[in-house]
Amino acid sequence: MLASKLYAPTLREVPSDADVVSQQLMLRAGFMRKVANGLYSFLPLGWRSIKKIETIIREEMDASMAQEIMMPILQPAEIWKESGRWNAYGAEMMRINDRHDVEYCLGPTHEEMITTLVKNEINSYRQLPVNLYQIQSKFRDERRPRYGLMRSREFIMKDGYSFDVDEAGADASYQSMYDAYSRIFSRCGLTFRPVEADSGAIGGSNTHEFMAIAEAGEADIVHCTSCEYAANIEIGKPGVMKQDEEALAPLEVVETPHASTIEAVADMLKLPLNKTIKAVVFSIEGKVILAMVRGDHEVNEVAVQHAVNGAVEPEMATPEQLEAVGLTAGFISPVGLKQTEEFSIVVDESVMEAYNVCGGANKTDAHYININPKRDFNIDDIVVAPIRLITDEDVCPLCAAPLERSKGIEVGQVFKLGTKYSESLQATFLDQNGRPNPMVMGCYGIGVSRTLAAAIEQYHDENGIIWPRAIAPFEVVIVPINAKDEALMQASTSIYNTLLSDNVDVLLDDRKDRAGVKFKDADLIGYPLRITVSKNTLESDDVEIRVRKTGETINCPISEVLITVQDLLAQL
Ligand code: ATP
Ligand code: MG
Repeated sequence: MLASKLYAPTLREVPSDADVVSQQLMLRAGFMRKVANGLYSFLPLGWRSIKKIETIIREEMDASMAQEIMMPILQPAEIWKESGRWNAYGAEMMRINDRHDVEYCLGPTHEEMITTLVKNEINSYRQLPVNLYQIQSKFRDERRPRYGLMRSREFIMKDGYSFDVDEAGADASYQSMYDAYSRIFSRCGLTFRPVEADSGAIGGSNTHEFMAIAEAGEADIVHCTSCEYAANIEIGKPGVMKQDEEALAPLEVVETPHASTIEAVADMLKLPLNKTIKAVVFSIEGKVILAMVRGDHEVNEVAVQHAVNGAVEPEMATPEQLEAVGLTAGFISPVGLKQTEEFSIVVDESVMEAYNVCGGANKTDAHYININPKRDFNIDDIVVAPIRLITDEDVCPLCAAPLERSKGIEVGQVFKLGTKYSESLQATFLDQNGRPNPMVMGCYGIGVSRTLAAAIEQYHDENGIIWPRAIAPFEVVIVPINAKDEALMQASTSIYNTLLSDNVDVLLDDRKDRAGVKFKDADLIGYPLRITVSKNTLESDDVEIRVRKTGETINCPISEVLITVQDLLAQL
């Protein structure tokens, strides 16, 4: 490809509404353009990288005996109503009606459609297992589309689904996809970690998220510094933090005017945060849930949902909901409270192990001091559960070594679905004894466009992108210092043709711009190797090859360019 023909308009200014580095760099370097909130067009450079990621995915999926198909994006509401998700999916689903007023959605995922497809064709154990995937645009009307390609409303996903005769088969399919995902993200050049994740109602360690480690990530993860343990903090099991035993002092009410946060109270009463307890009030389907953790801990909403067997994610309770169950916002503790049909109390395990702590007195501008939960809470009215978020002060739940915490971008997820969809959509097969059984399913997603953004989040510097070789739009750029000089252009074109003839993915920057401009663009776009052809080349027969990642430069004779480029690329 010639740079003079390439449609890659670069920008000098960072677009003001671009909130993460990957988005800024992709806009500046001419990889994509914004159409509307959460909607982007890929330009040739961006699309080349996307296609390279897709090729890696296809190769690894096909090598794992998964087969590519393509289903419609437009999905009839009917199948979603059958599975019960038409309502459950909520506002994130983009819904439309056709001219006959029949309801459809733009697929946010395809469990319903694939299960319907498979159930009509597969009826015997002899036809199983089957693993099918597609690479396609998905639509989700995200509450807050942001971070460019990382959370957009239309995005490219690889979604795959496996169907097996039993749990053991489903486990094998899951493992094979887990392994394929590890190879895919390694080949894309990402620094990533598979972590245990929340599997919602299904429970157990039935799902892993593949997290690209990056500060811009929206997920928090912990991993053990010694063993293999790694988890999304939503599911990380914190141990019980004990406190040194103390004599139980009498419960007392103290005035705490206007101190309605635990930090303000601790400050006013000169207490360390671990000698306080704090309340967070949620609602799940109208039921009010008081969650209590120590003042120095944070509530894990997913754990709260599990503790009360909630069908949906907790939301923050409204002031009206608090009032309806008699709670005084800012001054709440379980002391003296009773559970009812509309009100539950969940207390973190570490709260129960605390002594003489401070918490709300359930009236305005007052707190208790010397709460001793085992003495002062009505034990029949509370649920005790591990509902705090794991921190890096906790130890590994498997081997007790220290934990480290980091931010992750979820680039993929593998999930054991069990028979949830095959039962609701009646996808059954006849087993060896001629008896009908529901197929055991798994589903597997990769955010293709999010993976591209994650790579840039991981690999960039102040000058631009530093592509991992495998997903760079071009592997090599040749920059003749002066494109108006015919001899220089001839030498450059000859190198270009030599590289092309060996299938090196190369771009010739034949633009008549100044060398400085071309160098800047090369750094911004992030080609792994840059070959400079200058006057010196003509005199000494040497070209300069610069490695974007290290800044290292190598001089080599023109006759050795191909072998040197191959060597350098192989090391990247
Ligand atoms: P998240 O928790 O980040 O919203 P999710 O768990 O809802 O994602 P999945 O249903 O597991 O997403 O979808 C499979 C993959 O699709 C995710 O691992 C992610 O890489 C990608 N993905 C999901 N939502 C988006 C989005 N809005 N924009 C870009 N990629 C997305
Ligand atoms: Mg997910």
